Amino acid sequence: MSQSFATAHQRAVEPEHHDVVIIGAGFSGLYMLYRVRDVLGLDTVVFEAGGGLGGTWYWNRYPGARCDSESFYYSYSFSEELEQEWEWTSKYPEQPEILRYLEHVADRFDLRRDIRFETRVEEAVFDEKTARWLVGTDDGQRSSAQFLISAVGCLSAANVPDIPGLDCFEGDWYHTGRWPHDGVDFANKRVGQIGTGSTGIQAAPVIAAQAAHLTVFQRTPNYSVPARDAALTPERRAEIKENYPAIRKHTRESFGGFPYDPSSRSALELTHDERTAVYERLWQEGGFKFLWGSFYDLLLNEEANETAAEFIRSKIREIVHDPTVAETLAPKDHPYGSKRPPIDTDYFETFNRDNVTLVDVRAEPIEQITPTGLRTTAGDHELDIIVFATGFDAMTGALLAIDIRGRDGLSLRDKWADGPRTYLGLQIAGFPNLFTITGPGSPSVLSNMPVSIEQHVEWIGDCIAHLRAAGRATIEATPAAEEAWVDHVADLAQLGMFSKANSWYVGANIPGKKRVFMPYVGGVANYRHRCDAVAANAYEGFELSG
Ligand code: NAP
Repeated sequence: MSQSFATAHQRAVEPEHHDVVIIGAGFSGLYMLYRVRDVLGLDTVVFEAGGGLGGTWYWNRYPGARCDSESFYYSYSFSEELEQEWEWTSKYPEQPEILRYLEHVADRFDLRRDIRFETRVEEAVFDEKTARWLVGTDDGQRSSAQFLISAVGCLSAANVPDIPGLDCFEGDWYHTGRWPHDGVDFANKRVGQIGTGSTGIQAAPVIAAQAAHLTVFQRTPNYSVPARDAALTPERRAEIKENYPAIRKHTRESFGGFPYDPSSRSALELTHDERTAVYERLWQEGGFKFLWGSFYDLLLNEEANETAAEFIRSKIREIVHDPTVAETLAPKDHPYGSKRPPIDTDYFETFNRDNVTLVDVRAEPIEQITPTGLRTTAGDHELDIIVFATGFDAMTGALLAIDIRGRDGLSLRDKWADGPRTYLGLQIAGFPNLFTITGPGSPSVLSNMPVSIEQHVEWIGDCIAHLRAAGRATIEATPAAEEAWVDHVADLAQLGMFSKANSWYVGANIPGKKRVFMPYVGGVANYRHRCDAVAANAYEGFELSG
C-alpha cells in the first residue's frame, strides 16, 4: 500500500543502515552491486520491485521479445571468466536466454543474497544532519545509506495511454512491458495491437502466426531493417571468445558502443546505383549496420538521410503486396533514425497474411475502447485481446515515480518539471551522493546499453572509492556545472536528425511531458573521455565535502 511522503518518512521503524542502496536489479543494478560490494567491500542492499532480477529482461516477455543488438557485444565485459564460460546460441537472443544469462551472472557472483525482491522504493530523502539518504520501501521499512544509486532503467515505466473505456473492456489486455509470466494464448482470438515501435514490430509477426486475426493500430509508420537472426556456430563462438579484448576495446572507443567501424563516406558522394548497392548489401546482412555502417552522414544531413529513407520505403513497397497498405506502412513524416530504429523479423511480410489488418489511426483516430473492442472514427473493431505496445515514460518516468527529496526538501519532480537536469547524466545539483546510472544527459539509449552501463558503474565505483579514501562524506554536482552540461546536451541535440521527430527521446509520447531531448548525442567514446577527465581533474564540476 502506497503511503504519503510525510507518513512514510516518519515511520516508526528504525532504519537499517547500509553504505549503499541501489534501486533496481537489471543489467545496471547487478553490476553496481558487484562493484560496490565485492570490489569496494561496502555493505549494500538492492531493492527490486519485480519478483526476480533482470529488469527489462524480467518484465518484457511479450511474443517475439529479443535483443536487437548482437549477443557478443550486448553483454558484460567486466569478467573474462564470464565471457569465456557463457555460450550464446544466436546473434539476437530471445528474452528467455538473456534472462538466463543475467540469472547466471547473479548466481556466479552470489548477488541474490543482497537483493530484496518485490520491494518497491517509494521515497528517498536526503538527511542533511547525517548526510545520509533515508529510503522508504512499500513493505513499510526504512533504510539509511551514505550513497543512493538509481539503476531503474531508461525504459521501465510502462505507458498505457489513457483511452476512454478501457475499464469496461470485457476481453483481456496487456502492456508488452508487463507481460504475464505464463504467456498469453492467442489461439482463436481476435487481437488488436496498438503501437508499432521496436516492440510492436517484434511482436506483430509472432502474434499474427498464433491468433485468429490481428489488427495493428498504427499511429506513426516506422523504418525497420531485417535482423537476419542466425544461430552462432561453434566456430563463430570460438572466434568471438578469442577476440573479446579487441571487440570490447572497439565498443568503448566507438560512437554508439558497437564494434563496427563507421563508414567514412557520405551518402551523397556516390551515384544512385552505387549507393543502392551499399544499402542492398547491408539490408541483406541485416541489423544496425544499415544505419551505422553505411554512410557517416545519415544522421547529420537531411538529403543523405532521405536516400536511406527512400531505400527502406522502396523495400516496403516491394515486400507488401497491397499498394495501399504498403503506402500506409511507409514512413514519410520523420527522418530515418530520428526515432529509435527497430530491427525486425518478417514485420512487413506480416501484412501479406490474410488474418492481418492495418488501421491507420492518424486517418481514423481511436475514439474509445468499447466492451467488445475498439472504436475509431471509421467504425468498430471487435477484439478479444488488446496488446498495448505503447512504450514507456522514457528516461525520467521510473525515477520520478519515486518521491525523491534532496537538500532543503527539494523535490526531484519539481526540479525536473521542465525536463531533466543533470551533470554528465550522473548527478543532480541539490541531491548529494545520488548517482543515476544511464541518467538523462548521458549517451544511454543512443548506445549499446551494456557499454554505457559498465562505464557509469565503474565511474561511480571509482568515485565512491575516491571519496572514502579522501575521507569525504559527500559529492554533489555544482549548479554551474549542471547548467553548462544541460546547455551542451541541448546544443548537440540540435545538430542532426534527432530532434526532428516526435519521439520518446523528447518525451513526445507522453501527453503533457515537457519536450526536451534527453540523451547525450556526443557518442560514448567522447563521453567516456570527458567523464574520465572530470575525475582526473579532482572531480571538476562537483563539490566534495564533509
Ligand atoms: P515506442 O518506441 O515508444 O513505440 C510505441 C508505439 O506505440 C509507437 O508506435 C507509438 O506511436 C504508439 N503509441 C503510443 N501511444 C499511442 C496512442 N495513444 N495511440 C496510438 N498509438 C500509440 O515503444 P517500444 O516499441 O516499446 O520501444 C521503446 C524502446 O524500447 C525502443 O525504442 C528501444 O529502445 C527499446 N526496445 C528495444 C528492443 C531490443 O530489441 N533491444 C526491443 C523493443 C524495445 P508514435 O510513434 O506515434 O508515438
